[in-house]
Amino acid sequence: MKTLYDPTREELTEILHGEPRYRIDQLWTGLYQQFQTPYDISTLPAALRTRLAEVLPSSLIEIKRVSTDNEDTVKFLWHLVEGIYPIETVLMFYRDRATVCVSTQAGCAMGCGFCATGQAGFHRHLSVGEIVEQVVRSAHEAQLRGRRIDNIVFMGMGEPLANEPAVWGAVERIHGDIGISARHITVSTVGIIPGIRTLATRPLPVNLAVSLHAARNDLRNELVPINTRYPLSDLIAACQDYLAAKRRRVTFEWALIDKVNDTDRDAHELAELCLQLSPSAHVNLIPLNPTPGWPTVGSPPARVAAFEQLLRRLGVNATTRQNRGTDIAAACGQLAAGQPVAITAKAKSKSQ
Ligand code: SAH
Ligand code: SF4
Repeated sequence: MKTLYDPTREELTEILHGEPRYRIDQLWTGLYQQFQTPYDISTLPAALRTRLAEVLPSSLIEIKRVSTDNEDTVKFLWHLVEGIYPIETVLMFYRDRATVCVSTQAGCAMGCGFCATGQAGFHRHLSVGEIVEQVVRSAHEAQLRGRRIDNIVFMGMGEPLANEPAVWGAVERIHGDIGISARHITVSTVGIIPGIRTLATRPLPVNLAVSLHAARNDLRNELVPINTRYPLSDLIAACQDYLAAKRRRVTFEWALIDKVNDTDRDAHELAELCLQLSPSAHVNLIPLNPTPGWPTVGSPPARVAAFEQLLRRLGVNATTRQNRGTDIAAACGQLAAGQPVAITAKAKSKSQ
């Protein structure tokens, strides 16, 4: 089933055959520049709006929206119209920019034990329209607050490079029609090498983030099971080729887990991998966020700071990611789309 944000402009012209070109222009501008629903595009005749709703329905139904107390983070819980699966999108406002974190699959098949999405298992891939609609509806929400969206990160539920064709279709729409430049678009992967290689052949230089979490194969096999298929040396080679093709820096994401991957030895191993790349990889440290199915806790703040400092001393550019939305279960790795999560219950009781 095609939904409202699936067709390209050419496909839309075909689907709405018989409509004059200026009507398609009005619709396209309304959808991608003004973030309106067809129903709200007042320049369109009523008959066309009805026809659109029939042939190209919206793909997401908003079930719930939760915000942090200061409203700087908004989490949307949607149901996909097709298949009624729940997915989530997170919109984060900063002083000078706003970022949308989109989902690319309902669930995830990669099975990383510390991630709530991985714990919930895989349902299905999202389509281009289902990914793009998350961006458009977030942009609409930002617009209502007098803000614009600046960055798109493919870091919500799912593994983007296991669904690369749809992700790429969405990137093209986000870039070409919504007008967000490639350097403000980041695709995060657990390390699907064929996906990284395909991405390297695509025409736009989007940022690549790789969720490393361990810099030796025995530990990474445990934390990120797909490492047994795509081991570290091959992964680093694929990153180097991506760098060469795109002239962008690669970021390594590293969720710091207490006494598991936060020792000085880990920092030395990580630094060695980063410095193998040219230019050297940037490290984004994320203190592990709690999830219901994983007993281990995040590293204490002093250890996070020490790990970051050691990386810097070893010549690696490292930053610690600001933790956003933990109290509404919207932080990294906590997206489980309405699964009964202890933290969600806490957030609910707080708002009652
Ligand atoms: N599947 C992709 C993108 C989604 S996950 C990937 O794995 O890269 C986005 C980031 O959150 C990844 O770096 C992921 O490893 C990290 N993450 C997962 N669970 C987490 C948790 N409990 N705490 C902190 N970060 C987590
Ligand atoms: Fe999937 Fe990424 Fe979570 Fe691993 S960390 S289970 S790849 S969403």
